Amino acid sequence: MAVTLGYPIDLHTHSIKSDGALSPAELVKRAAARGVTVQALSDHDTLAGVAEAVAEGKRLGVRIIPATELNTESEWGDVHVLAYFVDPNDAAFEEKLKWLRENRGRRIDLMVENLNRLGYKVSLDRVREIAQGGSLGRPHLAQALFEAGHVPSYDAAFDTLISKESPAYVSRVGLAPLEAVELVRKHGGVPALAHPGTVLGLEALLPQLVSAGLRGIECYYGSHTPTRTAGYLRLAARFALVPTGGSDFHGRGDHGADLGGVFVPPDTIAALEALTIRSSW
Ligand code: AMP
Ligand code: FE
Ligand code: FE
Ligand code: ZN
Repeated sequence: MAVTLGYPIDLHTHSIKSDGALSPAELVKRAAARGVTVQALSDHDTLAGVAEAVAEGKRLGVRIIPATELNTESEWGDVHVLAYFVDPNDAAFEEKLKWLRENRGRRIDLMVENLNRLGYKVSLDRVREIAQGGSLGRPHLAQALFEAGHVPSYDAAFDTLISKESPAYVSRVGLAPLEAVELVRKHGGVPALAHPGTVLGLEALLPQLVSAGLRGIECYYGSHTPTRTAGYLRLAARFALVPTGGSDFHGRGDHGADLGGVFVPPDTIAALEALTIRSSW
């Protein structure tokens, strides 16, 4: 049997608890089969999958790092903050995540209304069914639009009906970039900037994010050219940030790489762990 091996560390993955396609256990199983031994489960605005992933990881020899990805949308473009080593039992943090998930739900409701008004009939019930209780996002909407025959493929939806330029698009309500970083730091986690290529004015924003508590930057990412990775590594060195990396695997469409599909240096985990704040426990 042919086994495709990936790299052993993957610090950016999504399950059905947000907009990925696989259950946390299925995700860890696939990661293990590809040779991953350390995996961060970084679902958007939720830590609901962590316990299941940890249990499956124990069985299969995969260390699971609890994480979440906080998406912000502002004049700085898409600033996504990965929060590593956050505590799934931190009630105050969960309260904030719940608010973000509620905002996600309202935003998708509004986008469904807009699409229906524009003549692209799509049922909110079906969108929620696709999400299976996970943090709602445009991927669930893309799936419903594809099923209804309004777009030729799941991926095509992101370039047309649900793109930022589409009249159906609704902006995200939530945290500002600095607030996201501060929130993670306040709750003892280690904030890292995800896929920095989606940020507008990165060099101007980065010093502010660092002052707010940013500790890592995702230098290693599937769509980065070696030149881009080298540029982000220079920024990491300049701002004393830990260079992180991951696949951003969702298991839906072409977005992200496959699990373990991106090289991440072995010393990354210890470097991140050393930056956690555990004094309040
Ligand atoms: P939302 O948080 O609702 O704005 O949706 C953003 C999510 O959509 C990301 O986390 C990805 O999972 C997915 N996504 C973003 N851009 C694309 C794209 N061009 N093609 C496919 N999926 C995408
Ligand atoms: Fe996503
Ligand atoms: Fe992201
Ligand atoms: Zn992601």
